[in-house]
Amino acid sequence: MDTIEKCNACPHHCGVKRTQLEGNGFCKMGLKPKVARVGPHYWEEPCISGNKGSGAIFFSGCTLKCVFCQNYEISANHVGVFITPEQLANCYRNLERQGVHNINLVSASHFIEAIIESFKIYRPKIPVLYNTSGYETVESLKRLEGYVDIYLPDFKFSDNRLALKYSSAYNYSNVALAAIKEMVRQTGDITYDENGIIQKGTIVRVLVLPNHTKDAMAVLSTIRAHFGSKVLVSIMGQYVPSGEAYKYEEINRKITEEEYDEVVDHAIDLDLDGFTQDLSAADEEYIPNFDCSSSDYFFNT
Ligand code: SF4
Repeated sequence: MDTIEKCNACPHHCGVKRTQLEGNGFCKMGLKPKVARVGPHYWEEPCISGNKGSGAIFFSGCTLKCVFCQNYEISANHVGVFITPEQLANCYRNLERQGVHNINLVSASHFIEAIIESFKIYRPKIPVLYNTSGYETVESLKRLEGYVDIYLPDFKFSDNRLALKYSSAYNYSNVALAAIKEMVRQTGDITYDENGIIQKGTIVRVLVLPNHTKDAMAVLSTIRAHFGSKVLVSIMGQYVPSGEAYKYEEINRKITEEEYDEVVDHAIDLDLDGFTQDLSAADEEYIPNFDCSSSDYFFNT
C-alpha cells in the first residue's frame, strides 16, 4: 500500500494521511518501516531468549511518548534505516538461519501494513512474537490473527492520569486491557516446546516505576481479575531514568529493592505465575546499540 488517506492503525486514531516516507500523526512516521537493529537478542524472559536468542527486529518510532523510554534514540529520535517489506521478509529468513528461537517484532504497531505484507512474502517457520507497549486497537490486532503466535504486551499503568502524564495516552489503561483480552483470545493458553521455549501464549510485562508501586500492584490485580492463570506476568525492575525522566523528580532514580519486593509480594499473594528480575539488570549496558551496523546482512541476503 503506497498511501493511507486516514490512519487509524493505533488508538490515537489520528485520521491523517501517511505516505511511504511521511506521516503527520502522533507517531510522525510514514508507512515504510524504519528499523534500528536486527539480530539475536538475549535479554528477554528466559522462555523467549533461551540459549540461542530471540530474533529481534527493533522498529523506529512509537505510538506512545514515554518520558522515561529506554529506547529513546529510536522511539523519539527515529534512528534507523528504511527497509521494504521484502527486506523485512529477508530478516525473518536470515534470523531463522542463525537459529534463533523466534521472530520478535519490537514496537511495530505503526508499521502494521508493511508487517502484514512481509508475512505474505514469507511466513516464518518459528514462532512470531509481537512485542508491544499494549497501546493497540482490537481492530489492528485482529488483522494479525494467524500471523502472531506470542504476544508480549506491556501493561504500563492502571491510573490513566499517570498514562497521560508520562506517556501522552489519556486512555491507556482501558485500551491496554481490551487489547490484552484480544491477544489472549488469539493465543489461548501458554504452550512450550520440549526445551521450555514458549511456542504460544501471552506474557504481560509490568514495569515498576519509582514511587509508583501502588499503580503496578493495581495493574497486577487487574490482570488477575481478568485473566487468572491464562497469562504469565513479567515484573520489570530494570527501570533507569532515561529520555526526559530527569524532568520528573519522582521518577528520576532507579527503583529500590523494597519497592520491587513490594510488587513481587503482591503478585505472589495473587497467585500469579511468571518472571521476576535481578535488579542488577537495571543498568544502561543492557540497552541495545541501535546503530544498525550489523543489520545490513539481514536485509539483503
Ligand atoms: S499509527 Fe501513527 S498516524 Fe496512525 S493512528 Fe497511530 S499514531 Fe496516528
